[in-house]
Amino acid sequence: MKSNGLALLGGEPLVGELKKYRSIGSAEQAAVRQVLDSQCLSGFYGSPGPEFLGGPWVRKFEEAWAKRFEIEYAISVNSNTSGLIAAMGAIGLSPGEEVIVPAWSMSATAIAPLFYGGIPVFVDIEPETFCINVEQVESEINNRTRAIIVTNLFGHPAELAKLRSVADKRGIYLVEDNAQAPLGSEGGLSCGTIGHIGVFSLNYHKHIHTGEGGMCVTNDPDLAKRLQLIRNHGENMVETEGFDDISNLIGMNLRLTEMSAAVGCVQLENIDGHVEKRERLAANLSEQTRGIAGFTPPVVRKDCRHNYYCWVAKYDEEAMEVPLAVFSEALTAEGFPHSTGYLPPLYLLPVFQRRSAIGRAGFPFSLSDREYAKGLCPNTEYLHDNRVLLFEPCAWDVSDSECNLLAEAVKKVVSHVGDLSGHD
Ligand SMILES: *Cc1c(COP(=O)(O)O)cnc(C)c1O
Repeated sequence: MKSNGLALLGGEPLVGELKKYRSIGSAEQAAVRQVLDSQCLSGFYGSPGPEFLGGPWVRKFEEAWAKRFEIEYAISVNSNTSGLIAAMGAIGLSPGEEVIVPAWSMSATAIAPLFYGGIPVFVDIEPETFCINVEQVESEINNRTRAIIVTNLFGHPAELAKLRSVADKRGIYLVEDNAQAPLGSEGGLSCGTIGHIGVFSLNYHKHIHTGEGGMCVTNDPDLAKRLQLIRNHGENMVETEGFDDISNLIGMNLRLTEMSAAVGCVQLENIDGHVEKRERLAANLSEQTRGIAGFTPPVVRKDCRHNYYCWVAKYDEEAMEVPLAVFSEALTAEGFPHSTGYLPPLYLLPVFQRRSAIGRAGFPFSLSDREYAKGLCPNTEYLHDNRVLLFEPCAWDVSDSECNLLAEAVKKVVSHVGDLSGHD
């Protein structure tokens, strides 16, 4: 019967149109209305005085964040990217020093060190959890290494406790790019709070958002102060603050607006619900798609919490006997929104391939003989190259019955995979 066949080949699609996830409600609207009524849309001033640390909503948001994540200091910024750059400044990164980064992440992870002349050193991921390989991190540390940036990719914690102890033992910093993993945890400790600095994203695509925005967290008062200075024209403050070493303390304007902070306060109050909803969806999807040969739902390491920023299934073309591109096309036709491959290994970006970042003389690559050849991180290249299928729970508002249909769509394509041979 034609209507039961694959939608790609003329059958009925299984999944109807899904609703986009909408998390901005009347409480966010009321908070923003209060800001607008106050007429003060930003409380910051870039000079000594109480306004140096921002207006009432920014301070309230930071206080609430620090409390929620049980950390001493929370410093809001206008994006996770800004937060990572500020973190590189705050740890005192100097031109020519190396920063170890994962090959698989969003580009900002690897670009942040370049703004201070740092040299990114790429380390491969381990194929089970897609996070950085700790043994390879250790083997890349030398006397030029200043820091490790680790990404808790797709919402799953990297081996954070191990990485922190490696960093402490070698006298370098661990910075967490925790854009994707709020409420993710390892051994009961929150992702973002295990490194010396953790950075969260509040952009539209993340679990909770303020449109654009980010948050840096740390337990170190000196790092916190440096982050505040870099966020807001630090050059005007170093004298008042009595800094001896003023290197890297020229500032930018990375400030969050009062409106964003007001939205953030409400989003943070409801973070458990926002995250748990996505976790339930992903866990349900994993449960229902387990046991299919050639299709492996995400794994969660022991004592870890995965918040499923992305639900990433591994795909085996040999076992499935159809290329991922064709499988994906069939799944799309059934109405299952997804993507494949995630991002290419970051060292394949033109900035590294052509060694051109700042100025025309090849700075900072001119200070280093590190190379970025294809083949550098084989696991990342292998997985990117047609071996993963990604679904973004953060983007969709999926009911339990719709989730069942998504799982059915996978099973339908699997059971009709023979019909796809020869299709391209
Ligand atoms: C989203 C994301 C970023 C960038 O966050 P912005 O707030 O948009 O700057 C950086 N790293 C990772 C891993 C991300 O997922």
